[in-house]
Parts: sequence; C-alpha cells; structure tokens
Amino acid sequence: MVDTDILIVGGGIAGAALGAALDGRRSTLLIESEDFCGRHATGRSAAFWLENYGGPAVAPLTRASRAILAERGWLSPRGAIHLSRGETGDALTRLEPLNRAQLEARIPGLRGDWRRGWSEPSCADIDVAALHLDCLARLRHAGGKVRTGAALATARRRRGVWHVALDDGEKLTASILVDAAGAWADEVALRAGVAPLGIAPKRRTMVQLRVARSGLRDLPLVTDIAASFYFKGESDRSIWLSPHDEADSVPCDAAPDEIDVAIAIARFEEVVDWPVEAVERSWAGLRSFAPDRNPVYGFDRVAEGFFWCAGQGGFGIQTAPAAAALAAAVLLGEAPAIDPAAFDPARFR
Ligand SMILES: Cc1cc2nc3c(=O)[nH]c(=O)nc-3n(C[C@H](O)[C@H](O)[C@H](O)COP(=O)(O)OP(=O)(O)OC[C@H]3O[C@@H](n4cnc5c(N)ncnc54)[C@H](O)[C@@H]3O)c2cc1C
Repeated sequence: MVDTDILIVGGGIAGAALGAALDGRRSTLLIESEDFCGRHATGRSAAFWLENYGGPAVAPLTRASRAILAERGWLSPRGAIHLSRGETGDALTRLEPLNRAQLEARIPGLRGDWRRGWSEPSCADIDVAALHLDCLARLRHAGGKVRTGAALATARRRRGVWHVALDDGEKLTASILVDAAGAWADEVALRAGVAPLGIAPKRRTMVQLRVARSGLRDLPLVTDIAASFYFKGESDRSIWLSPHDEADSVPCDAAPDEIDVAIAIARFEEVVDWPVEAVERSWAGLRSFAPDRNPVYGFDRVAEGFFWCAGQGGFGIQTAPAAAALAAAVLLGEAPAIDPAAFDPARFR
C-alpha cells in the first residue's frame, strides 16, 4: 500500500495540467516547493500562442491545444507581425506578406529599414492564470491533492515503490514519480538517483516599457525573423518587450540582468520611433530545454517508475492541454492522440 499512486513534483503548468489530465484515474499528489504554485516559469511567461513557435515537433501539441484554450475562453485575439530588414524566412511563406505601407498602418512609427513583414493573425494571448488555476482545481475536484511548501529532498526506489523524503523530513511512498520540476528537472532526477537528461535552464528577460505613444493595448506581437526581440501591447501606453535572450543559468529564482534590459530597449529603439518614458517593471524566468529542444514526456528507460514531464522551453503554456493529455496517456499505458515518439526520454539514453 502506497500513500499515493502518482507523486507529481512541481506545481507549474506542466505538473498541474498533467495532474488534471489524469482525471482521478490514479490517486495523485502534487507537491510544490514554493508557497504557491506558479511562482517560476509559469508565472513569468509572455502569455502568447504562436502556431509554429518551438519547431515542427512541438507544433502538433500547440495546434491541438488551441481548440481547448479557445473553447474555455482563455484565448484573446492578438495577431503577430514578423518583420525583416531584407532577409526572407522559409517558414514565413505560408503567411500573408505585408508591404511597407501596410506595415506602417499597423505599426505607426516603424523605422524605414524594416521593409518587409508577414502577418500571422492566429497569434493569441493566453489567460495563463485562468488555465493554471483551472488545472489545479480539476486535479483537486478529481480527488487529487496539492501541497505547497513541500519540496522533494530525496527519493529511492525499493521493491517497486518510491520512498520519498521531503525537505521537512516527512516521508511518503508512491508508485510513480513524475518529474515536472521545470528548471529543476535534472536536479530532481539526481535527488531520486536518476541520471539527468541534460535539461538546461535558460534565462529570458521581459520588460514593461511606457512609451510616448498611445493606442497600444491591441498592438500585435511584433517580432523580427532573426529572433532578436519581440514586443506586444500591454496597456494604452505600455508594451511588453523581450530581447529574446537565452543565457545559460542554474535553476534559481531568475532576475533580470540590467544589461539585458538595456539591450531590449536598444533593439526596440531600432524598430520604432516611440520615445521610451520609463521601465515600469522587468522580470525574468527560466525556459528549460532538453538537448534537442523538444519536450520530454515518458518513462525513463533505466529508472523504473520515473516519469519525465520536462523541457517545455518557451512553449509550455501554449502546448499545455495537449501535452498533458499525451503525457497522461503514456503514463497510464493508453494510446495518445499524438505520436509520443519525438518526446520519449529514451532518445537520450
Ligand atoms: C519570460 C518567459 C516568457 C515565456 N513566454 C511564453 C509564451 O508566451 N507562451 C508559452 O507557451 N510559454 C512561454 N514561456 C514558457 C513557459 O512559461 C514554460 O514552458 C512553462 O511555464 C514551464 O512550466 P513548468 O511547470 O515546466 O515549470 P515551472 O512553472 O517553473 O514549474 C516548476 C515547479 O517545480 C517546482 N520545484 C522545483 N524543484 C522542486 C522540488 N524539489 N520539490 C517540489 N517542487 C519543486 C518549482 O518551484 C516550480 O514551481 C515563457 C517562459 C518565460 C520564462
């Protein structure tokens, strides 16, 4: 007799969505080391849905998630415009090209060297908080438990059972251990005596800028095809801006580096002539990538009963519903709707 069939480590969107997708079919306990779920990557995202973000293996998860997100009212239209100073990108051929006059109409004050653009109307904002809270509520409603302020310290597998010790010394047993610890995924594996996969946390910076230009709330997501910045409207006179940075980091409570904020502003000033009035706030979070940048959903081939739910990179919110359904199916030995082969941790063993 174990305390719980499934012990999920990590209360961000990955752990919460998987817990909800299990739908009470096994007893489930989710533990989160922080005082509330969503303090790390999940609470720091730019909150957009962009169809091909993350690459071809990820896109089916993104597409399949859209219907669920839309049906629940968690998407609001935003649209994206990808800018170029001359270069073309293969992936953009399926998008509507915009000429200079059309670009100026959509982004007034756009500087002259941005000559080409492509429109991606399907880009949308995601209500991340509503999605995340709903997952936690569904997990609880199906009989699952969520404990915050509870960190996995060590875990050892003995005779088909995980013996887990929490930081405060409490002991638990579980049949399956799910590693949904985001930037800490490899660290949690090590704590369980499992060889890490090389899940690398990378810092991404966000800046909320107030500018001397109004009417920005519905500004599309503006990116460049060289992936050196993105920004979108936040309020009438403010935007969310990122320098698209990806600095290696240890797992931690990430904070923005001043230089990345300065780089973000410098890049922004090369795009539009809107005077910058103030940095209203800035933050950073860790996006975690497996070595091939695809997420990892599946049982470890070497460590019995250890299930990976990690490496969600910069697409963990927009893929959450479909990725959780896939992970739950694999975990329960059912046939997932999407081929799980690209996400199998066996590719690294
Ligand atoms: C700046 C930024 C912008 C982004 N923009 C987007 C976007 O627009 N769209 C999109 O889809 N995605 C975006 N992402 C990516 C998305 O936020 C992540 O993919 C997603 O939040 C990862 O969720 P997670 O649950 O794996 O990680 P987290 O939310 O970090 O959750 C992991 C949790 O595990 C807990 N934990 C760690 N160790 C232990 C332990 N030993 N015991 C118990 N708990 C533990 C941590 O405290 C943490 O709460 C962005 C990310 C960043 C940083």
